[in-house]
Amino acid sequence: MSVARVIVDVPSRDIDRPFDYTIPDRLSGWVEVGSRVAVPFGGRTLQGIVVGLTADPEFDRSRLKELIDVLDALPPLSAELVELGEWMSRRWVCPLTVALQAMLPSALKGKAEKYIALSYGQAWPAEELLADGGFRQLLEKGDPVKLSYLLQHYPHEADTIKRMLRSGALMETQKVEDRLSVRTVLTVFPGSEDVMRSGIAELGKRAPKQREALEYLLANPEPIPQQQLAEAVGTTIGTIKSLADKGWAEIRPVTEDRDPYAGRSFAPTKPMQLTPAQQGAYEPIAKAIQEERSEVFLLHGVTGSGKTEIYLQSIQTCLAMGKEAIVLVPEIALTPQMVERFKGRFGERVAVMHSRLSNGERYDEWRKIREGRAQVVVGARSAIFAPFGRIGLIVIDEEHETTYKQEESPKYHARDVAAERARLHGAAVVLGSATPSLETYSAAVGPYDKDTAAGRAWQPVYVPLPERVAARPLPKVSIVDMREELKLGNRAMFSRALAQAIEERLERQEQMVLLLNRRGYSTFVMCRSCGYTASCPHCDIALTYHRGSQNLRCHYCGYAEREPEVCPSCQSPHIRFFGTGTQKVEEALAQTFPGIRVIRMDVDTTTEKGSHEKWLTQFRERKADVLLGTQMVAKGLDFPHVTLVGVLAADSALKLPDFRSPERTFQLLTQVAGRAGRHELPGEVIIQTYEPEHPCIATVEHHDYAGFTEQELRHRRVLGYPPFGRLITLTLSHEQVPVLHTLGESFASKLRAKAEAEGVRQTVASGTGLSLEVLGPVPSPIPRLKDRYRYQCMVKYRGEVDAIGWTSAVLRELADAMKRSGVTASVDVDPQMML
Ligand code: ADP
Ligand code: ZN
Ligand code: ZN
Repeated sequence: MSVARVIVDVPSRDIDRPFDYTIPDRLSGWVEVGSRVAVPFGGRTLQGIVVGLTADPEFDRSRLKELIDVLDALPPLSAELVELGEWMSRRWVCPLTVALQAMLPSALKGKAEKYIALSYGQAWPAEELLADGGFRQLLEKGDPVKLSYLLQHYPHEADTIKRMLRSGALMETQKVEDRLSVRTVLTVFPGSEDVMRSGIAELGKRAPKQREALEYLLANPEPIPQQQLAEAVGTTIGTIKSLADKGWAEIRPVTEDRDPYAGRSFAPTKPMQLTPAQQGAYEPIAKAIQEERSEVFLLHGVTGSGKTEIYLQSIQTCLAMGKEAIVLVPEIALTPQMVERFKGRFGERVAVMHSRLSNGERYDEWRKIREGRAQVVVGARSAIFAPFGRIGLIVIDEEHETTYKQEESPKYHARDVAAERARLHGAAVVLGSATPSLETYSAAVGPYDKDTAAGRAWQPVYVPLPERVAARPLPKVSIVDMREELKLGNRAMFSRALAQAIEERLERQEQMVLLLNRRGYSTFVMCRSCGYTASCPHCDIALTYHRGSQNLRCHYCGYAEREPEVCPSCQSPHIRFFGTGTQKVEEALAQTFPGIRVIRMDVDTTTEKGSHEKWLTQFRERKADVLLGTQMVAKGLDFPHVTLVGVLAADSALKLPDFRSPERTFQLLTQVAGRAGRHELPGEVIIQTYEPEHPCIATVEHHDYAGFTEQELRHRRVLGYPPFGRLITLTLSHEQVPVLHTLGESFASKLRAKAEAEGVRQTVASGTGLSLEVLGPVPSPIPRLKDRYRYQCMVKYRGEVDAIGWTSAVLRELADAMKRSGVTASVDVDPQMML
């Protein structure tokens, strides 16, 4: 295998294929599938990932260039992850390098030089005594040695080094200047017993502190950080240094993991006796894990039904098999309380990964996983790429959350990646939620659509968990019709019912959460008298107000109409754009309820690292009466003294021009309703709306997931929206509109031609059978960004139609034309955000 097939890191469609390089002898022991390498490319040196090895290259070897270098001692990606990357690049139509780079911790993306050192406190392992003497001596000195130096001088020790890295005897680090690496701590290594005894004798009665330190080391002959030793014997660093100067001990820098949860203690917990309902849910999952079957489960349980305990026990089962587990949690729910539940059960075996960690911290956690020091990872979306080798279980909590879809390239969904990785590992997948996404839910329980069911890669087993653990009741939900309030002359933000409920809480010194869903405000038109909103006659999507042209537009199909002056439905002049923000609500609260203490949490108040947690802690300590905020107050919060949850203008999210708006609104309202009365005090939820009869609001009143889903699915089926049809959006951008038009048109017509050639029908709505239609090109929801215009085409299809493959083929056909005209294209397969 003397030729490496390399994907160079240039995220462009016309370079998206492997290039062959010969492997020089000095590197031959190092290069594996998944290695990161430096290669010559078009006169530059670029980084790339090895995706294959071959003895038989595509071109004459004499024309191939040589690999320049291997950048890490152990390949950062495994062959399995490379395979997963290849699958991702097909599934989400992105260049392979983009998929592969998404799996690397960012600390590994730079050019930082790698160092190899003997691990903390390790002696040379007995089974490696055959290693080259010079090489061994070099490392036994303890100082980190440049990887490039080892590659050059000990090429034949590649296997030894890799083996020792995998066993943890050696470790790989990066230089500290890059601030990516591992923190070093000056550590005292005690001399031999004889040396220390003679030191004590030599000191006699002089320098009592030095003597005391030596005695301490004699009694505890373990490496100890210099600072810690100084503190233990109550002396200065100087004293400790003089021990080293005299040769009785040695001080060396040692790298240390930065554990972001260091200093927090996690009370150990024992598995609970499962309730019969939990037991019924746990058993099939445990069975799949034990039989190493890659089965997907949908664990559908209301908040407080004990899902987390089921995750924990399933992980236990997985660990007992000697396997590893990945737990994905929405970024915002990755709070210390959440981490505590996993660390409390599995202690040191848990690694934590989320975006608030620094690059260095994340790199440490990543190494902990790769080196086998952690068997469980709890993390946000990208933790799905954790470098485990024997996965037995993948849990996705709150599986319906939009954060599991990455909105920049690669635009992957962690749920699908989980199913695919599980397939490669023979692992079980548990998708947990109180309000499963309609895609997941209908995949599990139907209604099946003959044509779409076949197009699904995975079909979950439905595991319901309908009751709360301690049979605590769900809170009482009341819906307030804001149109009635207006009729009675109340133009305030708070309905009479909500205002009264707030007064009562203030009197009783209980707490409340107020949710304002600000997203989408002022982009849609609504009548305050009757609740009418303008929607597209073709797509049934709210029309978006465009300030510039003062008209209302559908961003799916391009339909446009003039801005109305009176309500087309009831002729009221109270038709207007919404524009209330959290700040305005805060002011209104202060005015209406003098002395009220409010914590406001929104994008403006939570940008600083740790601020999110700071506000929540203050609220938990009852330093405020009201927690006011956007979506972020709805998720995963659990406060014993909250007895009132108020939702202001529930419709705002409902009217976003996205066909999933009702689903998101239902999920959000259900979730926020679950925040009240989780403990002894009973809870009450008040939802203010202009559209109380809308299914997604009316059903929240009775916590009726099934009722909502049934209506919503019926609606989606008619229009051919997911889960009945599937979507792909293509966004093109350029400085000039006509170029976009031309390219958009040729994309659409080429794709239509492919469909026609395959005998696929061209209307998706209200039909069955194979069909595909291309809508657009039309201006994107964000029609101009950074002086570039944006146009989009939307592909809508049903059944086993290879729309993804065709899209990708058409883009390859257009690659030249796009490059020449400077158009950039971005594809979103199964888009989650239509905005
Ligand atoms: P979910 O994840 O579905 O919201 P949790 O797992 O957080 O539910 O459980 C809700 C509460 O019930 C927690 O306080 C948890 O400790 C408790 N609980 C869960 N399972 C049991 C059980 N089998 N016996 C007693 N209490 C339980
Ligand atoms: Zn009206
Ligand atoms: Zn339309």
